[in-house]
Amino acid sequence: MNFYKVLFPIAVKDGFIYSSDVEIEIGSRVLVPFRGKHKIGVVWDKASESRQYEIKPVLDVPDKKPVIDTELKKTVEFIARYYLTFIGLVLKSALPKRIFEVYSAIDLTEENSTFLNFSREHNLNQEQQYVYHNINQNEFGVNLIFGVTGSGKTEVYMRVMEDVLKKGKKCVVLVPEIVLTPQYIDVFSKRFSSDILSIVHSRLTPKKRFENWLNFKKGKTRILIGTRSAVFSDFENIGVVVVDEENDESYKQENEPRYNAKDVAIFRAKQHNIPVILCSATPTLESYHKAANGKFKLFRLKNRIKNIPLPSVDIVETNKSDFLPDYTIEKIEDTLKQKKTVAILVNRRGFSNYLVCADCGYLFVCPNCSVSLTYHKKSNDLKCHWCEASYDIPSVCPKCGSADIMNRGVGSQQVEEMLKRTFPKHDIERFDRDSVLTKKEFERIVGKLQEGKIDILIGTQMLSKGHDISKIGLVVVASLEELFGVPDFRAREKALSLVIQTAGRSGRAEPGSVIVQTVSKESELIRYIKTHNYEDFLKEELKNRMLLRYPPFKRVIRIIVESTNQNRSQETADKIARLIKDELDILGPAKCPVYKLRNKYRYHILVKTSEILKATGLIDKKVREFKEKVHFDVDPISFF
Ligand code: ADP
Ligand code: ZN
Ligand code: ZN
Repeated sequence: MNFYKVLFPIAVKDGFIYSSDVEIEIGSRVLVPFRGKHKIGVVWDKASESRQYEIKPVLDVPDKKPVIDTELKKTVEFIARYYLTFIGLVLKSALPKRIFEVYSAIDLTEENSTFLNFSREHNLNQEQQYVYHNINQNEFGVNLIFGVTGSGKTEVYMRVMEDVLKKGKKCVVLVPEIVLTPQYIDVFSKRFSSDILSIVHSRLTPKKRFENWLNFKKGKTRILIGTRSAVFSDFENIGVVVVDEENDESYKQENEPRYNAKDVAIFRAKQHNIPVILCSATPTLESYHKAANGKFKLFRLKNRIKNIPLPSVDIVETNKSDFLPDYTIEKIEDTLKQKKTVAILVNRRGFSNYLVCADCGYLFVCPNCSVSLTYHKKSNDLKCHWCEASYDIPSVCPKCGSADIMNRGVGSQQVEEMLKRTFPKHDIERFDRDSVLTKKEFERIVGKLQEGKIDILIGTQMLSKGHDISKIGLVVVASLEELFGVPDFRAREKALSLVIQTAGRSGRAEPGSVIVQTVSKESELIRYIKTHNYEDFLKEELKNRMLLRYPPFKRVIRIIVESTNQNRSQETADKIARLIKDELDILGPAKCPVYKLRNKYRYHILVKTSEILKATGLIDKKVREFKEKVHFDVDPISFF
């Protein structure tokens, strides 16, 4: 008799033991009795007989081959350990849903397609050639292509993909969520035949998603383009992994398992000894730092193709009563007259209770944590959402001495209302990742946008992602301070990246323009925006992060406690802090910036560490059993 540990796609830490007369290959699907039903699980390991409970037999082994190989298995295990999560949930993310729903055999036989037909449109320019020739295709290495918007990054990695395909190997291209996918498909199917292309993203039906996953696994298709979860696709015989727009936050999953697809891609590429290509016009500080340290290879593309200049940027001051100054309105009118689209960038959530100096744009930050302080009207003070410190409101600005301190700048909501009043006859649409868009609604807006039928588009991060919306003639950043007046140590990085990426949408075909509205022309970030110099910002920001022991110098783990009972939430958070504070460097507990969410009261603790696996191991051991809900977010990106 053989015994096997079988894993199910559920929130459990370990598998269950079953017996079988025949030997089963690790990674195979099996049909077994589980909790009174028949279920599909995956054989995870050999096991020895257990005497604690009755062992049930495997009922069927439907497929001829395993669905998961040794490397993917190792990856799943690593993710569960690294991100302090359930291995069953990682397995659930790693395989299409259908794998666990279909009881009959899945045909996994290889089907090698040989069809290769590249239709190139351009020859690489000198800058591109240098990058292309210096990416080592023969072994593992992370290549960061840091190039301004429209500098031809896509063209470079497509050239590498050609080489990989010619060698009979496959390629995986990770792209940010949703918005871009149709455009990517377009670009790739023009270049490579659509017969060898598989697409995987969350807007596909489970059936379609499964089909595409299967075709790629079997080798029927040779290129997989997909969002986050595509990082779990079959990596056998793969030659390169590309992570486009590597700074995009959608690579990090915001619910369990909270993995980062970019890091998983690197982990897997290492196992397979193949190169990774990361691309961005605004790489993350983490990636840039690794490149500067020689861990990644840095490539710069400093010029736009055809030397179309980067858009000129107008800095426009606003104040509390003037959300859309005349200058902005005139520019919008001009753009509309030319039948071009105006894009207005607003912040994502209505979290903007910051305090700002009206004269110099100084934003009040916590001296301990270097994050934006939150203004509390009721108590008329400033609070830190990371260390719980509270501060009196100073009577004058510490930077310039002005007494003109405002409790916020211009709000995006107000800008939106004002636009609708000022341009009532124009077609105004709002486009958000957060606003719940149905598939139909989403396609309607994207369709309208591509046809150039929207006059004014109000949006958040979405705007920074549209690939080539050449109809955008003007981009307006409604309120610069509102973008970075949030309690997040990456607030400045995120804000600047967003502004630069969005500005890059403007005038890709011909010069476009950008207006950045700000409280003061002396406000932070302005100088980098004017010169489009993201690298200077990164260098400067590195110093701040070092000073306060933030990433990339330390890694962080965010522990979130949630309870319907306010006191219990706080007590649990305090208890956890006491358990770990002697051994780990922590901030908090403090109320989360979004304190009440779905009827639960939330506290968080931030752990900073240079030995992540040691820290997660310790947390796992000490914080295992709590009645209240405790979430762990390793390498968190969002702090609400
Ligand atoms: P990025 O990814 O850096 O934003 P893309 O690769 O999308 O830039 O290139 C921008 C545009 O320039 C695309 O329309 C692309 O087809 C075109 N392009 C890229 N490389 C070249 C080249 N060497 N010569 C002419 N056009 C190019
Ligand atoms: Zn000031
Ligand atoms: Zn603080």
